[in-house]
Amino acid sequence: MDPLTAEIQALKKSKKATILAHYYQEGEIQDLADFSGDSLALARAATKVDTPIIVFCGVHFMAETAKILNPEKTVLLPDLKAGCSLADSCPADKLARYQEMLRINGRKFQTVTYINSTAAVKALSDWVVTSGNAEEIVRRVPEDHEILFVPDRHLGHYLQEITGRKMIFWDGACMVHEIFSVGDLIAMKKKMPGSIVLAHPECPANVLEHSDFIGGTEAMIRHVGKFSEPKDFLVATEPNMMWQLQKRHPQHRYHGVPGITCACNKCPHMARNTLEKLRDCLISENPRVEWEPCFDQAGEVLRRSLLN
Ligand code: SF4
Repeated sequence: MDPLTAEIQALKKSKKATILAHYYQEGEIQDLADFSGDSLALARAATKVDTPIIVFCGVHFMAETAKILNPEKTVLLPDLKAGCSLADSCPADKLARYQEMLRINGRKFQTVTYINSTAAVKALSDWVVTSGNAEEIVRRVPEDHEILFVPDRHLGHYLQEITGRKMIFWDGACMVHEIFSVGDLIAMKKKMPGSIVLAHPECPANVLEHSDFIGGTEAMIRHVGKFSEPKDFLVATEPNMMWQLQKRHPQHRYHGVPGITCACNKCPHMARNTLEKLRDCLISENPRVEWEPCFDQAGEVLRRSLLN
């Protein structure tokens, strides 16, 4: 074990901390975590932590969710600037004005919000969904209500297609999933006949059209596990996901689909967390997510949506 990893392990023990890591974190961070998962699994795991400190290796809205579900615990985020372009695309004040405008126009609707959003936006919502439970929650919305889906328009369009529910879309998107290169994907499929394309529903429709399987990261792992013979999988989601796929199902070969502007298409926000910052936040017990007034209402929506 290298000295930095050993130092983090020792700090984790002495500080009584639990490390949660998203699948989009570097493999070396996922390796150190007590639990790795997607947003839904991590939110649920956060409610079962029995240590006084949670170190959340992911982006800010995820650490915020962990704090909301654990008000009495200290929640640390190795880099407080680890944001999310998708969450940023839907400011709470703008959403509140839009909801008001719909109400004034007599529209009867419920707001279904993707978990990649700020606590203030969750507090304005009826439901919070992840890619793992979105379809099930959308089906719970009463038929006589329209659905205002925020902030990811690509996930919204995909859900509208599979559930048949008419939606009003917010114009947000993830900077990573939006820019997969369809041209490169088609070329890769030609080069590897028999390969299987896995795509996250945050990808635009033109990528989903060329995919064999559409699902969140947990669903991808389950799907890959169904194949015992070695296969080539072309993966259209954040490339660190391939580390987890390789670990769980090493019999296969995984190939990242490149982005239009960048060959690896890594999330720059997730990449802000490093082993050094993880060590430093354990030493200083900072930066931490502080409680905000909107967390009470956001917590009600989160518990109703994700924990029941
Ligand atoms: Fe946000 Fe996209 Fe990065 Fe996920 S991959 S944290 S949705 S910018």
